[in-house]
Amino acid sequence: MFEPVIGLEIHLAMKTRTKMFCACPADSFGQDPNVSTCPVCLGLPGSLPTINQEAIEKAIMFSLALNCQVPEFTQFHRKNYFYPDAPKNYQISQYDRPVGEHGYVELPGGRRIDITRCHVEEDAGKLVHPSYADHSLVDLNRAGAPLIEMVTEPDIRDPQEAREFLGRVRAIAQALGVSDANPEEGKMRADVNISVRRAGEPFGTKVEVKNLNSFKSVQRALEYEIKRQSHILEDGGSIQQCTMGWDEGGQKTVLQRLKEGEADYRYFPEPDLPTMRISQKWLKRVREITPELPDAKFERYVALGLREYDAGLIAYDVALSKFFDRSLASYQGKSQHLANWLNGDVTGWLNSQEIKLSASRLEPEHLAALLKLIDSGTISGKTAKDILPELMQGANPDVLIEERSLKQITDSNAIEKMVDGIIAQNPVIVAQIAANPKAVNALLGQVMRESKGKAKPELVRELLAQKLGLEQSA
Ligand SMILES: [Zn+2]
Repeated sequence: MFEPVIGLEIHLAMKTRTKMFCACPADSFGQDPNVSTCPVCLGLPGSLPTINQEAIEKAIMFSLALNCQVPEFTQFHRKNYFYPDAPKNYQISQYDRPVGEHGYVELPGGRRIDITRCHVEEDAGKLVHPSYADHSLVDLNRAGAPLIEMVTEPDIRDPQEAREFLGRVRAIAQALGVSDANPEEGKMRADVNISVRRAGEPFGTKVEVKNLNSFKSVQRALEYEIKRQSHILEDGGSIQQCTMGWDEGGQKTVLQRLKEGEADYRYFPEPDLPTMRISQKWLKRVREITPELPDAKFERYVALGLREYDAGLIAYDVALSKFFDRSLASYQGKSQHLANWLNGDVTGWLNSQEIKLSASRLEPEHLAALLKLIDSGTISGKTAKDILPELMQGANPDVLIEERSLKQITDSNAIEKMVDGIIAQNPVIVAQIAANPKAVNALLGQVMRESKGKAKPELVRELLAQKLGLEQSA
């Protein structure tokens, strides 16, 4: 049996107003090519970069949330390489003085994954290869946009754990507003390092799989590599150090290049930017403006009385937790009741429509109003479920039940009339009830239908039992 040894390198596109070293807008998703550029991010001669304070602050905030040490001095270096999407022929990155070092993330179950480092750098542009042309085009909208790169120690022991880790990192980045961390828009990408070994042996030769753009492909690529490497070793072969890509269609890793020694990027300190001092005062200020972290949310929800399962689903999903908090503020009832609706019917509807909560028009206050109507007995749980799809599309439950007179009938005289009528119409069922008390449910159903679902079921059941001389068991 072989044991996998896995490390991750994650790139997050930061959510800032402007790019890392110039005043161009950072987010140009969906815009025309090259509209979001200037002499600095085009790398034109004579232009000078300036450091984006918002980006540094967010990188510090993220590093602290990953339990990293933030050193007193941080510095930018040039990483030299040539590629057509990098207009300067170097990337401004960080080398031996990153923003954060020696952190960790705790996974559910308590396992810790150590973080080696967390640094800031600029993104590259994008090459486009149009089918109509014999040349390639370059879009530099992303060039110079701020990125966080974080690297883990080889602490991860299986593909599922890698996926959980990515989920935690995404939840932290989103909760802090550091990044949308959305792999579908390329705002979170991962490279993985993977080797296998027999338990107790030193680390084997590692293979790198680059540019994985979904959590699922990370998991699949790791599963594939574990099998591939284990088979080679079982057959007495050896693993070659190399860089691979992931073929989504074929669901397999493909060789990109064999490793011919470390690439030499000739790092040297960026002469156009000063070394930055991160004072204790600045750190204190960043700590003060840091939003509540997912772990803290989880603790708070459990303390409110939520089951751990529900607390976990909500706390580690930034959209869900924001919605839950707003809804609860207006509901002020049993938090578990709210969680049941959110994780049950609401999530179920969203899944059936294949949309996210943010794309629905459900208002937190409307869900709260719906639960209040149930709690007060004004509407039945069934009516609530019936009108939920309309709430998901923006309807106000108070208005809906008023307009359609959906209020539960709690007047026992009105219900008694219906019960008497149904008993009189169904002598056969009434006769069966003596032998089989469960047959009473057929009558209950008929009364509910006649009241168009508005009779309070508990009251109907009580009256039927009274009239038919039954023991109240259910
Ligand atoms: Zn620019």
